[in-house]
Amino acid sequence: RAKSAGGNRFELADPEADARAITRHGLTTALPAALDRGEFFIEYQPLVHLGDGSVRGAEALVRWLHPQHGVLGPDRFIPLAEHTGLIVPLGRWVLEQSVRQAREWRERHDGAGPLRINVNLSPCQLNHPGLVQDTVDILERAGVAPDALCLEVTESALIGADDDLLKPLRRLAEMGVDIALDDFGTGYSNLANLRRLPVSVLKLDRSFTQSMQQFPADPVDLKIVEGIVSLAHSLSLAVTVEGVETGAQAEQLRILGCDTAQGWYYARPGPPERLHELALVDATG
Ligand code: C2E
Ligand code: MG
Ligand code: MG
Ligand code: MG
Repeated sequence: RAKSAGGNRFELADPEADARAITRHGLTTALPAALDRGEFFIEYQPLVHLGDGSVRGAEALVRWLHPQHGVLGPDRFIPLAEHTGLIVPLGRWVLEQSVRQAREWRERHDGAGPLRINVNLSPCQLNHPGLVQDTVDILERAGVAPDALCLEVTESALIGADDDLLKPLRRLAEMGVDIALDDFGTGYSNLANLRRLPVSVLKLDRSFTQSMQQFPADPVDLKIVEGIVSLAHSLSLAVTVEGVETGAQAEQLRILGCDTAQGWYYARPGPPERLHELALVDATG
């Protein structure tokens, strides 16, 4: 950001960038105490079946209620937590809360189809040797079956992953935990590479959904999504789409064969009671 190319007058400090750096530093040092003080909370966004519109589960999205800055989204602090390693205890906390929440939903929705929970995993958590045991313990403590859980890992985290990195994911998959490839289509991964990964769900990145804004959508984008869906299905992978904001997008993606959807069109991320209401309305008609 030091714009020295144009001469001295561009070497002045950028006060906004400095303020951002100071905030970043402040947030980083405040993170550990924030976890102890219970300043993090989780919002849940429903995952909806495109065929029948029923709520099938939710993705857990962490937020930080900062005493001075108010509610901060994960993009503001997850990278900092990854940098300092706090992501491991924070991620464990998110997993524990989310799995407990899933048990409560499942108890209250007997007969309406068991609701499932999706939890994001950062690359640091993948590298952490305790991942498998922590997950097993959390599921056992909550009395939740592994197949109620889906762990989301970004495509970029798995690009070029060697077998050591994939081993814990494979173990989890063998136990029945679903692994989803998040933000799929942004990471330039080799499609043939998918066979090697222990994933059972592709989460198509929001950029594809955005290109479905018009109805009918751009024919080239349609072909690309159609191709991804057919490849995914031929490998027995389910396809979830994120960022659905309009009915037209939902309809187009349903026609293209996507299985589940998530987005503001259905519901914004919200408190756990909200998901309960949505699923209940859905179950009773
Ligand atoms: P993601 O996993 O791809 O999550 C989807 C993001 O899209 C969420 O942003 C969600 O609020 C947003 N979103 C959902 N529907 C719509 C829509 O219709 N339109 C638009 N424009 N956006 C929509 P959020 O909550 O800010 O989370 C951002 C990212 O932070 C997540 O992306 C995920 O990578 C990460 N993240 C969130 N919670 C956790 C966590 O507990 N652990 C880790 N490691 N990462 C997390
Ligand atoms: Mg995700
Ligand atoms: Mg995503
Ligand atoms: Mg995304």
